[in-house]
Amino acid sequence: MDILTQTTLIDALPDPVILLDGDRKIVAANPAGRRLLGGQIVGQDLLRVLRHPEALSAVNAVLAGDVAQSATISLPAPMRRDFEVHVSALSEGAVAAILVLRDVTSLRGAEQMRADFVANVSHELRSPLSSLVGFIETLQGAARDDAKARDRFLSIMDQEAQRMTRLIDDLLSLSGVEANEHILPNEAIDLTALLERVASTLSGRALDRGMQIEFSPAEDLPRITGDPDQLTEVFHNLVENAIKYGRAGTPVRLSVDRTERVPDIGGLGVVVTVRDEGDGISPEHLPRLTERFYRADKGRSRGMGGTGLGLAIVKHIVNRHRGRLVIDSTRGVGSEFKVLLPLSGDTGDASDTSGDADRR
Ligand code: ADP
Repeated sequence: MDILTQTTLIDALPDPVILLDGDRKIVAANPAGRRLLGGQIVGQDLLRVLRHPEALSAVNAVLAGDVAQSATISLPAPMRRDFEVHVSALSEGAVAAILVLRDVTSLRGAEQMRADFVANVSHELRSPLSSLVGFIETLQGAARDDAKARDRFLSIMDQEAQRMTRLIDDLLSLSGVEANEHILPNEAIDLTALLERVASTLSGRALDRGMQIEFSPAEDLPRITGDPDQLTEVFHNLVENAIKYGRAGTPVRLSVDRTERVPDIGGLGVVVTVRDEGDGISPEHLPRLTERFYRADKGRSRGMGGTGLGLAIVKHIVNRHRGRLVIDSTRGVGSEFKVLLPLSGDTGDASDTSGDADRR
């Protein structure tokens, strides 16, 4: 096969491919290879183009007689990317080796996320569990005949068990939402009635902190298309957070209205706003709030029995509805969470699941 035919072949491949002669000189590179390593690389020694010891020693080994070698490298500019470099011996005319680079950045990212997630879940479960184990030992030993201590310990154990239950419920809810995120919901929903139910379910919790949920409905609000259980979960989580993080005795304001335009999606929609008067959230935390287990104020969240998953669930459900979550907060004043949902018929492209609702 001549160089021309080889070049035509490698040009058709999406991954960067480079052909080398026996002196490590680049004989040919496909467009993806030139995009990655530079337009003028043909004719140069690979050493000058890919300054990566692992990749070079794999190439040298193949040129010295090995059949194939591979290496994993990171290229820092313009944005860090990870590649698997596969080098194989080839003896076709002037070509002695072929280099294929496979971009594994997103794979690595997903692996890292999975590992972090497992580590986080284990960590979250370990502390209530070790507290339970500790109290069981105490109840079996020192506190066996102390009725007062027993009652106190049992009530703490109850709280810890409830914390684990909440965590598992949230994890199941999150995985359920993720599983159907690409399927558009299709029920017609009276959002005003749904929000009234959420407010009345949580009014007791608000009262415990001397708070009231003030609901402002809109007249003649059009129905939206959605999943009633999931939207209930969204507003339940947001109002619950406003109760948890608002100052005791202040109101939680819940309102719904029309909006002329849903950001990024366009078209008419409705906007639900949950506003609290609390300590607020520092701007540096805002973009990360919807990450799983991310807490702006760790002690406060745990003290309030939070799992750190509520806003991650909210984000996924809002994404499924092709909506947007907008978070605004001022330290010392309070926070505002807005959920914008498109009206029926304005739901955009069902295949677009890339909506990043972190913060807009
Ligand atoms: P949690 O179970 O910890 O409340 P969430 O996912 O619901 O988890 O929220 C993530 C973090 O965002 C919370 O730990 C808290 O630090 C912050 N947060 C959420 N809502 C509010 C709010 N209304 N006011 C201040 N901080 C908030």
